[in-house]
Amino acid sequence: MLKIDGQRLWASLMEMAKVGGTPAGGCRRLALTKEDAAGRALFSQWCVAAGMTVSVDRIGNLFARRAGLDDDAPAVASGSHLDTQPEGGRFDGVYGVLAALEVVRTLNDANIRTRKPIEIVVWTNEEGARFTPAMLGSATFTGAIPLETALQTRDAANVTVADALSATGYDGARAVPGIAFDAYFEAHIEQGPVLEESGIPIGVVTGGQAIRWLDVRVRGQAAHAGTTPMKYRRDALFASADMASALEHLAKDFAPRGLVTIGEWHIRNASRNTIAADLTFTVDLRHPDDAQIASMHALLCERFEAIAAKRGLSVEISPHWISPSTPFDPACITAVAEAVQALGYPNQRIVSGAGHDAINLAKYCPTAMIFIPCVDGLSHNEAEDALPEDVSRGADVLLHAMLSRAGQVKH
Ligand SMILES: [Zn+2]
Repeated sequence: MLKIDGQRLWASLMEMAKVGGTPAGGCRRLALTKEDAAGRALFSQWCVAAGMTVSVDRIGNLFARRAGLDDDAPAVASGSHLDTQPEGGRFDGVYGVLAALEVVRTLNDANIRTRKPIEIVVWTNEEGARFTPAMLGSATFTGAIPLETALQTRDAANVTVADALSATGYDGARAVPGIAFDAYFEAHIEQGPVLEESGIPIGVVTGGQAIRWLDVRVRGQAAHAGTTPMKYRRDALFASADMASALEHLAKDFAPRGLVTIGEWHIRNASRNTIAADLTFTVDLRHPDDAQIASMHALLCERFEAIAAKRGLSVEISPHWISPSTPFDPACITAVAEAVQALGYPNQRIVSGAGHDAINLAKYCPTAMIFIPCVDGLSHNEAEDALPEDVSRGADVLLHAMLSRAGQVKH
């Protein structure tokens, strides 16, 4: 069975890691900086050498195209991102881009033509580290964010995306929203410990999980810390501490797939010798299943209200952002599953815990993802690492999933 050249893929990954490489062995290529542009230039050079045609769209997404026999057919696409976190690793995003390039190099070496064209995509500003929101390029490509809004997004130094695009020469001409692909496959490191812990090299990703962001406000009564007996207090801080432990308990009720986080906690008019009367905190709920996250949400409200009532305080729980689960396309998942089976690699189905460009694409065209393990489940870290054999196997799976979709032309 046809396989990719693992050594060549690894060498390309290590070469790309030198662009914006940090002393601690990580990478710093913030979106649309000169390091990001240098990474894109290196990638483009490799694509041209592989006989591909490179183009850029109005939000800076970079496309490398390998012609198909039926070149007017929608392309079978694959890709990810080359931008990184400020102290990022050598694999997050880069792996998906270079695995797709390795697929094309392998097809070239084996003299294989495909019926449909193949496109490799480098999405702009996936990380959200320089410009918010994350996954800006893919959201603009799919029309989820209007182009003008995306172009006017500013970084912390007040530079707009439009200015950063023209400064780096990535203010391309290709229209957005873009033409939907026949299929989009994205290979990525898992960024979590599940595959490594089970000793399984390939995750067949079935979709992205549901997310609910809630704002919670607890109001009690301000009073003197030295003169108010404990039994008369309506302390918003201690009430919210009870809510925090009720929340952790809720995660146990929905274990192992339910996840809860309190990321921010603010006491209004905080003072050392005054009982906290008014505070807010945020809740991040995640679950792969929409019905389950809805019951987590309902139970949370019930339990928080019971705590507030018992302590004589009020609580308001308001949704800030609700994102349903994003199932991937059954036919694309099957293409990945059949590829991994044919290759004989151990695999398991997995839900993506993190956001990816593929989550945006899934709302626009048939999409699936392939995960490989990363060492210690570590990502968004300069020490991020992956094993060469896992890197190769993930790209083998990508090769055969894409081939099945693009159609190999018989000689
Ligand atoms: Zn990524």
